[in-house]
Amino acid sequence: MTKSDVVVVGGGSTGTAVARDCALRGLKTLMLERDDIASATVGTCAGMISSGLKYMDEPHIVDMCSQEVVHLNRIARHIVMKNPILTPMLELSDLSSGGSFAEEYSKRAAKREVPPVLFLTPEDSLKIEPKLNPNIIASMYFEEFFIDPFRLCMLQAIDAQRAGALIRTYCEVIDITVKDDSVDEVLFYDRVKGDIERVKTKTVVNAGGPWAPGIAKMAESNVEIRPNKGAHVILDRRVVNVGIIAKAVDGRMIYLFPHENTVLLGTTALDTWEDPDTLVASHDEIEYLLQSMEWVVPSIREARIIRTMAGVRPLVANWKVPEDKVTRGYETIDHEFEDVRGLFSFTGGKLVMCRHMAETVTDLVCEKLGVKHKCTTHEIPLPGMEADVDILAFSADYGISQHAVERLRARRGTEMTRVLELTRENPDWRTTICACEPVLEAEIRYSIREEFPQNLNDLRRRVRLGTGPCQGTFCTYKASAILMEELDLSGEGFKVDILDFLAERWKGKRQSFRREQLVQEEVTQGMYTCVANLDQSEIEYDPKPWEGSI
Ligand SMILES: Cc1cc2nc3c(=O)[nH]c(=O)nc-3n(C[C@H](O)[C@H](O)[C@H](O)COP(=O)(O)OP(=O)(O)OC[C@H]3O[C@@H](n4cnc5c(N)ncnc54)[C@H](O)[C@@H]3O)c2cc1C
Repeated sequence: MTKSDVVVVGGGSTGTAVARDCALRGLKTLMLERDDIASATVGTCAGMISSGLKYMDEPHIVDMCSQEVVHLNRIARHIVMKNPILTPMLELSDLSSGGSFAEEYSKRAAKREVPPVLFLTPEDSLKIEPKLNPNIIASMYFEEFFIDPFRLCMLQAIDAQRAGALIRTYCEVIDITVKDDSVDEVLFYDRVKGDIERVKTKTVVNAGGPWAPGIAKMAESNVEIRPNKGAHVILDRRVVNVGIIAKAVDGRMIYLFPHENTVLLGTTALDTWEDPDTLVASHDEIEYLLQSMEWVVPSIREARIIRTMAGVRPLVANWKVPEDKVTRGYETIDHEFEDVRGLFSFTGGKLVMCRHMAETVTDLVCEKLGVKHKCTTHEIPLPGMEADVDILAFSADYGISQHAVERLRARRGTEMTRVLELTRENPDWRTTICACEPVLEAEIRYSIREEFPQNLNDLRRRVRLGTGPCQGTFCTYKASAILMEELDLSGEGFKVDILDFLAERWKGKRQSFRREQLVQEEVTQGMYTCVANLDQSEIEYDPKPWEGSI
């Protein structure tokens, strides 16, 4: 049996941030994720690292979020994007809440190095975004930052690993043993090896997001959350080139954000009792978002819906208030109050706060272990953040298109040179595998060697494979062949992996099929089901393979 100072359960934004902080403070850290890094809630979020002004009633949260944006810009600028945002107004009543927002935003603007809010005439608004409804009476202009949530989690995990942490994916925690009122052992099932393992530890951080209550229960402890469903619709093109925030049919605010080569329309916020493992966006959610945004961007339905995604926000359990009155802050639970020393859980929180959440809990873990090291995660850059990158020079030097080099930079910053160097010895690896993005063969090979993906879905999270308008129709075979070669997998593994990847794409597509997307889907189905004779019904999945062996 191995030993750890701390076991972190969950490899989302919170878990990877905690693993990084613990490792940087010199703790022997093991992070266990039952699936892949960023495979759950964080992978369904909008990636907005906002100033938190939606929650103006909680000024301490607005201040904390603003400060975190400053930190993220310092440690991860290469994966941060700044988007201009317009809030178009169609009626005088839309203007009413704008004043106090503008005041609060402008107070904190200088700190985040963005201009104060501007109120624009309809003419100026339409110059910035011609797709707006010409009947608007004004708009508000401001700027917000966004981060690539998949890369943030990956870089936090890699940095934790470089600082000595053990990062284990496909390892599901199945029990936490408590001895003499303290956590003692964590039992987990390794899905790749098919083994059960045990690790001895004095502290466990439960960063299980919506699964946190179930994880706490393993140690006979309690966590209560208010699960809140959010859905997004992804359209096949950049319908707009600036972010749009507008009032929905029920008066809530919704958004349309340019996101890589697509746009993200979101989000809903509904109390939910659905299983977070099988959650999908509903027809009603899709129509609610489309109809609401159509008022300010009338052409929105001309774009093709390529995918939807849904996740569960693990909100703090404030009940008997409307969901938008529930705090968007977080709580850290030290389970010592219920006689389980060494177990810590979270409720609430957001992507933008993950570093802050990690700092708070790592302080508690260090206190428990008698370790005195201070937090440095707000100062130490994440991998790839060391310097700016000259796209034109790299493009000329390596003979790769500027666009492909720029996309590589957006994922890897200075570490992109490690990918580019592979093409010196293997010029063929400059081949584009995923044309929508684009993704080069060299990046796929680098990712497989350095970022521990086990399958095509993991590769998607690392390099955006198959996330564009064709949703994997043309890149799946090619990428799969590379993966099988690099991991030395068998023909049967090849087939199951392709089916898994297509099933995951299908999960996000089937609720939204309309018009041209149906035609696109027929091409995909034809290519895989008819030509390649692949049949989805062949996938077998056992959710609890360890049962009977404990
Ligand atoms: C639609 C939507 C939009 C959002 N937009 C934003 C936004 O723009 N900005 C923002 O700041 N926040 C946003 N959020 C909130 C944000 O996404 C979440 O608060 C945050 O990502 C939660 O991360 P997490 O790591 O705590 O949880 P998760 O990402 O859910 O990670 C928990 C992990 O624990 C793992 N796990 C569960 N059980 C076990 C086990 N037994 N053993 C091992 N591992 C286990 C899971 O597989 C999972 O990977 C949004 C949320 C939603 C739903």
